[in-house]
Order: sequence, then C-alpha cells, then structure tokens
Amino acid sequence: MRVTMILPALTEATSPLFRPIKYSLFPPLGLATLAGYLDPDDEVTLHDEHVERLDLEALDTPDLLVVQPYITSARRGYEIADHFRARGVHVAMGGLHVTSLPDEAAAHADTVFTGPGEDIWPLFLKDFRDGVPARRYDSTLRTLAGLPPVRRDLIKRHLYLVPNSIVVSRGCPHHCDFCYKDAFFEGGKSFYTQAVDDALAEIDRLPGRHLYFLDDHLLGNKRFAQALFDGMKGMGRLWQAAGTVNSVLAPDLLERAVEAGLRSLFVGFETINDANLAERRKNQNIGTDYAAAVRRLHEAGVMVNASFVFGLDQDGPDVFDRTVEWAVGQGIETATFHIMTPYPSTGLWKQLESENRIVHRDWDLYDTRHVVYEPARMTPRQLEDGYWRAYRDFYRWSNIWRGSAAQPGPHERLRHLAYAGGWKKFEPAWDLLIRSKRVVRAMPALERTLAAFGGRA
Ligand code: SF4
Repeated sequence: MRVTMILPALTEATSPLFRPIKYSLFPPLGLATLAGYLDPDDEVTLHDEHVERLDLEALDTPDLLVVQPYITSARRGYEIADHFRARGVHVAMGGLHVTSLPDEAAAHADTVFTGPGEDIWPLFLKDFRDGVPARRYDSTLRTLAGLPPVRRDLIKRHLYLVPNSIVVSRGCPHHCDFCYKDAFFEGGKSFYTQAVDDALAEIDRLPGRHLYFLDDHLLGNKRFAQALFDGMKGMGRLWQAAGTVNSVLAPDLLERAVEAGLRSLFVGFETINDANLAERRKNQNIGTDYAAAVRRLHEAGVMVNASFVFGLDQDGPDVFDRTVEWAVGQGIETATFHIMTPYPSTGLWKQLESENRIVHRDWDLYDTRHVVYEPARMTPRQLEDGYWRAYRDFYRWSNIWRGSAAQPGPHERLRHLAYAGGWKKFEPAWDLLIRSKRVVRAMPALERTLAAFGGRA
C-alpha cells in the first residue's frame, strides 16, 4: 500500500517572503507516530508543509492520503484533501480541528477520526485493507501500551532546529476552558503516559544531546515524572519542556528535572489576574506565587518561556503594559503572547457563542494574533494593537538588558542576553538559515547556550 501523509501549513509559514523560526523549531510527531502502525512493506512518505514546499500536482497518487490540519491550516488541509480526492485517492483526516468540527472535515474526507488515534487508527487500517473503511472513527480507549516506535526515519531532520522532539504522554490533568484538550479527549481519559521504561528507551534511541518534549504538561503526573527524571539522570541530555506554575513550586520535582538536564521550561502563566484565571477555569494557577515560581526556576538554572493571553474578560487596555512590566521585572527570558482565541467546541467557545460574541469563523484568523470575538473591556483594535505593542516592548533591547539584570548571577545574565536576543533580534538570520535548509546547523549554538550556563541545582 502507498501512503502519503501531509501536515498542511498555515499561510504565513509558507510565505515566500519570510519564514519565522517558530515553524522550523521541531518536527511534530503525530503523523510519524501513525506511520509506526503501517506494515514494513507499505510505502510511506511524510511531508510537513511548514518546512517544505509542496507542489500537489507533482506528488504521486497514493492509495491513502492522511491529512492532519490545525485550525489555522484547515483551509489548506481541505484544499489538499479535495485535490487528492479528485484523483480518486481515499482521504483520511484527524487531529484537533477535525475532532472539534468533524462534520466540516467530513465534507473533504472519506474518513474522519475524532480524538487520539492509538485505538482507532489500527482499526481503520484493517478496515481499509479489507476494503470496508468507515466514514468516521471515534476514539475511546486510551493507552500508550504497545505503541510502535515513531517512524523517525520519515522526518526530514535537517529542516528543523531541534530534530529530537519527543512526546511521552497524552493530554494534561487540568481543564482550562480555552484549551482544546478536553474536547479532543472527550469520551475517555484525558491524561495518560507511556510506561517509564518505554519512554527511556525512546530517549536512548535519539541521537545527539538535545531533546524537546512536546508533552502538554511533562510534569503533570508526579510519580511518572520523578521516575522519568531519575532514569534520565546520567544520560547527558539537555532538554526543554512545558509545565505548570504549581508543578514548578512542587517540592523536589524541579530539582530532579534539572539533574536530568532540564534547561528551559514553557510555563502557561496566561494572566496576572486571578479573576481571569477563575473565569477560564485555570484553577491550578489561582493563588500561586508566580514570582516565586520564576525565581525557583532561575535559581535552578532553568530559563523561562512564559505564555500570556490578552483579551480575557477582566482585561482592560492597561493589561499589556502591566503584563510586560511584570515579565521584564521577573527576568523572564522569552515570552509568547496570544490574543484569547475561542477554538470551536471548547468551553470558551460555547460561552462566547451563547453570548453572541463570536464575530466570524474564518479559521485562518484563529491564530491568536487576530481578534475573532467581542472583547468585554476594550475594542478589538485596542486588543490587537496592544498585543503587537507587548511583543515590541518585551523584546526591546532596553528591556532585554533590564530583564537580564534580574537574573541571579553573571552567568545567567549572559545567557539571558544570548537567548532572548538570539530568538527575536536575529529573525532575518533565521530566515536565511531556513531558506538554505541549514537551520539544524544552529543546533550546536543552542546546545552551548543551554549547556554552558544551566543546571545549578
Ligand atoms: S494546563 Fe495547559 S494543556 Fe492543561 S488544560 Fe490548561 S491550557 Fe490545556
């Protein structure tokens, strides 16, 4: 059987003018994981449009096309699907957006999947080989036991800055109502992990030193995380991951992570207003001491990539300056800002829809940089302008310097300057590296930055 798998890209990522580094950071693993279930004699090709240009006409005609669109690439995903269906190819589609709007996707696919694929994908493959594929498969059984190895041989590693992405769990134990997670895992467990030994074996198979864990919340199951970190100790890895404020503050967990090689953590602070947190059911952050969490990370030698959302219902026009000021004052190295975005079928979507506040359904604009709903305490223009201003202000050299001064020591100050400056002040250089397909060559510089300064604990 010949199988083609495509991760369609949103328009910006394929722009001939400029390719931001964020789309070439690491390979997503969803399709390569599904490819692991194929037979050894199946012919499979995998394309990630974020890092490669696709001429659909020039692609061979497979027996099966698998497309995994995000909301912002749904239009492109449907275009690809329609093209191949017109050539008589059976098109299968799944992922977050398809799960949230299966009927919309079904208009462009022969088969749609809702939820994670570990149970339904092998079932579909059997039906497809038997000539009786169903129109829709809904996942209910949640386990990572017996997961075949990810087909990393299909990933074009040289097109990514960090080729070693890895994921050892699914979902997250929390229930923030703006997050896709609950809708995706509806009907079954919404957080589960690999066996620790399986995760360690996969880590062991990865070449090089640096890893990027794509798990929503690597520290979400304390026992699993502790055992994983203990097992990783001595492997000589350097890694980055995502975790919550309360997991950072939990005794002992961070220390073990640092000993295992953690050097940078993505943390969803979201807002510095507790009333916003309560409205959006981000209960795990309420009453936590954000400043103490940042301090604890810095003192352990871990850099912070902080995530903030603007436009929550308690946010007025002063939220941008207050948030940036707070983040700079804490010495946060990198920040990602988002305009609140109601993804279809989330709790937030349902609330705003019931209040008649969703202003359009152009999925291209659901990219957290556009206002797609009526904000409560400012105009859409104020919200979009403030969002862009926050980015400009946070990454001004004067603020990068000021942020670095908040670091605990001279090593960390230097690292702060190198890391924050490197990401945001050299985008044209990243663009050049991406175009010349040499972005992976910047990996040793990233490793040196992470290795030379980190890991005080
Ligand atoms: S903590 Fe993060 S991944 Fe978990 S539900 Fe909240 S937003 Fe989603």
